[in-house]
Amino acid sequence: MLTGLNVALIGGDARQLEVIRKLEELDAKIILVGFDQLDHGYVGADKQKIDEVDFSSLNAIILPVPGTNLEGEVDTVFSNEKIFLTVEMIEQTPENCTIYSGITNPYLEKLIEKTNREHIQLFDRDDVAIYNSIPTVEGTIMMVIQHTDFTIHGSNVIVLGLGRVGMSVARAFSALGAKVKVGARKSSHLARVYEMGLMPFHINELEKECCNVDICINTIPFEVLSAQVISNMPTQAFIVDLASKPGGTDFRYAEKRGIKALLAPGLPGIVAPKTAGKIIADVLAKLLSSNK
Ligand code: NAP
Repeated sequence: MLTGLNVALIGGDARQLEVIRKLEELDAKIILVGFDQLDHGYVGADKQKIDEVDFSSLNAIILPVPGTNLEGEVDTVFSNEKIFLTVEMIEQTPENCTIYSGITNPYLEKLIEKTNREHIQLFDRDDVAIYNSIPTVEGTIMMVIQHTDFTIHGSNVIVLGLGRVGMSVARAFSALGAKVKVGARKSSHLARVYEMGLMPFHINELEKECCNVDICINTIPFEVLSAQVISNMPTQAFIVDLASKPGGTDFRYAEKRGIKALLAPGLPGIVAPKTAGKIIADVLAKLLSSNK
């Protein structure tokens, strides 16, 4: 149970509803900022404006998956309130107050450095990233179906990266009958691709390997789909870039060449907010109770 724990949820999307539900179930004292348009029946939650929050009473602050933007603004879909997270606010919290977000960015990193509070990035954890790859794969399949006029079955698919998302994506597209090649740089990853019955290639060979690709799915957060590589792709190819912003594709050049290329961030929150929220809620509950 989280009885006696003061937690502020600042901003977020439908995924946070599962977090609120879970924290309420566990008897935490919850302050909701950026949820004024949420019509809910959460008995244990108190809606406040950001300037009403008593930061000195908080044991934990839960931010949305992206944390803040590069200017410190916290996004919320349940309010029109402009919410900025500042160093001054965090400085008022007790020294052992922990801040949770999915990922980080230079603004948040600087704020944490200046205030010396503990910051936990939930998506750094293998368990969260692997569970989260499940709705990511479903969202990727949805995008491919929406943006192509051919079946996944029988098509030439390239997956770039064999991390937590890449492995799930490669396996699912193969199970749907696609001919899947995976580009990676580690020899252990290339061996794993081979073991999975898929076709491995070194990422340095991408330019050569992509000449007959129908669907290219990138999970590498560096520009691997450069103009040089894209110039070797057929014009009917479709690129889905799953890597975190700004992705790994030269989108300007793809557009110039007439190749459809889409950056697709936050798919779990779009296609399965309840499941994605539950993944976050379950791990947060464990972390908050162990930090108590
Ligand atoms: P991960 O486990 O760290 O995998 C990243 C992969 O990229 C690894 O295979 C890594 O290989 C490779 N890589 C990194 N830098 C490289 C480089 N310079 N050249 C070649 N390969 C490189 O990450 P993940 O959990 O799979 O997530 C992948 C990306 O998807 C992240 O940017 C994440 O934020 C994003 N994501 C997006 C969504 C969405 O909805 N769009 C959902 C979840 C995650 P090495 O092991 O060799 O470094």
